[in-house]
Amino acid sequence: MTHHNLQDNPLLDLSGLPRFDLLSPEDVQPAIGELLSRCRGLIETLAADGVAATWADFAAPLADGFEQLSRAWGIVGHVHSVNDVPEWRDAYNQMLPEVSRFYAEVGQNLRLFAKYKAIAEGSEFATLSSAQQRVVEHEVRDFRLAGAELPAASKPRFQAISEELAQLAARFSENLLDATNAFSELVTDANELSGLPDDVRQAAREAAERDGASGWKFTLHMPSYLPVMQYADSRRLRAAMYRAYATRAAEFGPAELDNTPLIRRLLELRREEAQLLGYGSFAEVSLVPKMAESVPQILAFLRDLATRARPFAERDVADLRDFASRELGLQPMEAWDVAYVSEKLLQARYAFSEQEVKQYFTEERVLSGLFSAIETLFDVRLRPDEAPVWHEDVRFFRIENPAGELVGQFYLDLYARETKRGGAWMDEAIGRRRLRLQSPAGSSDAIQKPVAYLNCNFSRPVGEKDGRPRPAIFTHDEVSTLFHETGHGLHHLLTQVDEPGVAGIHGVEWDAVELPSQFMENYCWEWSVLQGMTAHIDSGESLPRALFDKMLAARNFQSGMQTLRQVEFSLFDLLLHSDFDPAGERSVLELLADVRREVAVLVPPPWHRFPNSFSHIFAGGYAAGYYSYKWAEVLSADCYGAFEEAGNPFDQSTGDRFLREILSVGGSRPAIDNFRAFRGRDPQVDALLRHSGMIAV
Ligand SMILES: [Zn+2]
Repeated sequence: MTHHNLQDNPLLDLSGLPRFDLLSPEDVQPAIGELLSRCRGLIETLAADGVAATWADFAAPLADGFEQLSRAWGIVGHVHSVNDVPEWRDAYNQMLPEVSRFYAEVGQNLRLFAKYKAIAEGSEFATLSSAQQRVVEHEVRDFRLAGAELPAASKPRFQAISEELAQLAARFSENLLDATNAFSELVTDANELSGLPDDVRQAAREAAERDGASGWKFTLHMPSYLPVMQYADSRRLRAAMYRAYATRAAEFGPAELDNTPLIRRLLELRREEAQLLGYGSFAEVSLVPKMAESVPQILAFLRDLATRARPFAERDVADLRDFASRELGLQPMEAWDVAYVSEKLLQARYAFSEQEVKQYFTEERVLSGLFSAIETLFDVRLRPDEAPVWHEDVRFFRIENPAGELVGQFYLDLYARETKRGGAWMDEAIGRRRLRLQSPAGSSDAIQKPVAYLNCNFSRPVGEKDGRPRPAIFTHDEVSTLFHETGHGLHHLLTQVDEPGVAGIHGVEWDAVELPSQFMENYCWEWSVLQGMTAHIDSGESLPRALFDKMLAARNFQSGMQTLRQVEFSLFDLLLHSDFDPAGERSVLELLADVRREVAVLVPPPWHRFPNSFSHIFAGGYAAGYYSYKWAEVLSADCYGAFEEAGNPFDQSTGDRFLREILSVGGSRPAIDNFRAFRGRDPQVDALLRHSGMIAV
């Protein structure tokens, strides 16, 4: 269906839920083009000198205008993710550069910056709500970090640094990918396949055939590399693959793929950028919009965690070495033996089948378990609801308060499809917002209620029993993923903030945004919840306790070693971006060696070039931010600890407090204030250690 008139364009109808029933790819260009030009016109109008720098005259109408664009473009992005057919991909890709260019322009618009700054410094500021103040503060902060306040003479240099940094990051990834692709190991002796699962052998055989070779071809891509390291009995094969993987994009390979010079350059430029902005190091810049306050604070956090996890990590390694020599005759245990020995030890200690566990998690039982957990915790009701959807698999629900009033709505799209992007994610369809309605009777206020998309890639129902289709069944990992994404969804849906810029997950510090999602995962490990949430697909029985105990033990397997590994990466990242001088005497590898001497229990061989493939910090968004994985885990575990202390995972007053102080305030208040208001103190690592089985005895 083509909608020739803008009035009929369903993407421009933002009066309610997205019109997935009317929408077609041809609507994208006209609607988004129209909204971009409306936004540009609005900026021209509002940035003019005659417009007062006040909330009502400037910030509110600008936010309203931008919301139209982000909602419409959000719908396009969503359909592109869940129905990635050529027509939609083209429609999305056609407008993506224009939308990106628009937001880049806005970020550099100094007239908008001047207005926000005037609001921040004006007399009205003290009279604004705290949410409005925070919106203004975030705007001013982001303009500053983008270089808006630099003296004119420094701006070209700042711009040049930004561009070179973007190019270096892209090259880092490309080199890593090319180096990964450049290696393969062709096995011609079938004896070397011993231990490998059939599907992995089959894939290796087909890969060799595609090259016109006989034998089995293994590569450094995860689906090939990981099973070799985990299962291959051939030590030679594991050693060869390990060495190739560990030395990717380093000086041992072709010079044009070596990431070493890029790392040095990236660090130098980040340091220079930080200095231009008036900060001592790049880590300080990175921390401005984060919850963590300072480099020393994070260093202390990581070192404390390392000290507490160390005895458990040492025991993990001792167990491994012992098992390797006693049961497998591997002595000394080498780096390329670790994953292999770990897998064998895990099987020997806690063998259970994922397939067996899966039979207990039937779709309806899992959903009713999830919904009743939410209802009990946050005193709301979840009910099926109606809406146009993008695929027949999609279900739609509404959340009501006890008085029956609408709180929010969400779509649930559980099953994998070929046209759906991988993984699981939450996205927002509509954000909570106060609407200023004008009518002949005067103006009045109403609240626009939030709507979310929850997307997963689980297997759909297969087969029949007694003439009826069998329900879908999920692995425990999948159930945990569903709870995780629902946690993000609740953050968005249960917000009570009316300013979209800081409602729900908006404006929440980057290192705190995983708190509600990881918090919800805890309920998948709660025995009382699991009993109600499981029913065997054939017998209807709930999960046996003995099986649950094995799952729990496997969950905590090597948690000490894993914790120290994460601390090692985090410390390295943070030190590299704070007190390390890229132009100085000490090399990046020497810094890494120092970090390992301090915290590691397993030290890789000297030729290992870990930094050359550390994309998170050199090509991703995690520079001076890798610590946030552990940071957020501590927050969520500590919040769950409050329920444990109350003696009930559904304790009513604790649930009320979590809703009131964390979920409903979103980004309208600093995350540390939310945490303190909920917990009555600063975060502590004890709950995380306890949940990971690291309990000092
Ligand atoms: Zn998440």
